[in-house]
Amino acid sequence: MVIVMKAGASDEQIKHVVDRIKELDYTPHLISGVERTVIGAVGDERGKGVLTTLETLDGVESVVPILKPYKLASSEVKKERSVIRVGDSGVEIGGNKLCVMAGPCSVEGEEQILQVAHAVKSAGAHMLRGGAYKPRTSPYTFQGMEEKGLKLLARAREATGLPFITEVMDTAQVDLVEEYADIIQIGTRNVQNFALLKRVGKCRKPVFLKRGLATTINEWLMSAEYILSEGNPDVILCERGIRTFETATRNTMDLSAVPVLNELTHLPVILDPSHGTGFRRFVSPMACASVAAGADGLMIEVHQDPDHAWSDGPQSLDLPMFSDLMVRLKGHAEASGRSM
Ligand code: PEP
Ligand code: MN
Repeated sequence: MVIVMKAGASDEQIKHVVDRIKELDYTPHLISGVERTVIGAVGDERGKGVLTTLETLDGVESVVPILKPYKLASSEVKKERSVIRVGDSGVEIGGNKLCVMAGPCSVEGEEQILQVAHAVKSAGAHMLRGGAYKPRTSPYTFQGMEEKGLKLLARAREATGLPFITEVMDTAQVDLVEEYADIIQIGTRNVQNFALLKRVGKCRKPVFLKRGLATTINEWLMSAEYILSEGNPDVILCERGIRTFETATRNTMDLSAVPVLNELTHLPVILDPSHGTGFRRFVSPMACASVAAGADGLMIEVHQDPDHAWSDGPQSLDLPMFSDLMVRLKGHAEASGRSM
């Protein structure tokens, strides 16, 4: 259920409703909007008090049932779109300005990450990406630089001012990754690793949740719900292609997920055309299409020498290609009423 407070309801009235929700054995989640506060009451409804009785309390406008299986992620609960602030970097995701995250698939060394970080920054990227823990299909391929990689990403942040996003693969790594990263990425393969989702739900950093190779939008939003229901309100969704019968591209980038998500959820949506297509020549057209479809930003793999990249070289843009893409994107952003 969602308890919609009247515009101008007092803090005292809100607190009273929160206390009543707890007494009825539900968990309250406060969502403060510009105009009014809504309170999500989440919990198993069987054998409990009736939340509709809250309708008579002072300051309450209405008590509305949530029809979707996900609640905190739902636009039924929160009509305003979420804008996620990335620490005190000044970067926001979900507002009018598009957010472009760019960098190599994997951190490979100090010189490499600094070179790419400086290049993507001067081309106009807002965040740096780079993997330190890599979920590779084969155990015999490069697995990432681990903590050393995190330290190098932090060096690159210091040198460029770009906040960074990096993946965490296991609950045991979360403390360390959270200490370094500005945004914590949950990769495709962990989209239904519920222990990991619950753990990052306790983090104080935003979580970037990639869609699974074969998860429906409903399942994906239920995964977001795992994070939100643990108390972390800052979840960003990333469409990165799904597995279909098509083999001409590495994955099938589901562009229609953008307008669908924009209807179903208030959470920001980022597109990753690098993993979405698997080929660098398809990245730019799909990036532009993502902006036209209503994405809040992009994640792009960029490498200074893609042919020698330690992972995902074929889909990585080189530095001039990335600069060109940023110029093209500017026009598309403007046509969609957004800024870069
Ligand atoms: C990545 O971002 O490099 C990555 C491994 O992504 P995904 O989980 O989408 O495959
Ligand atoms: Mn990659």
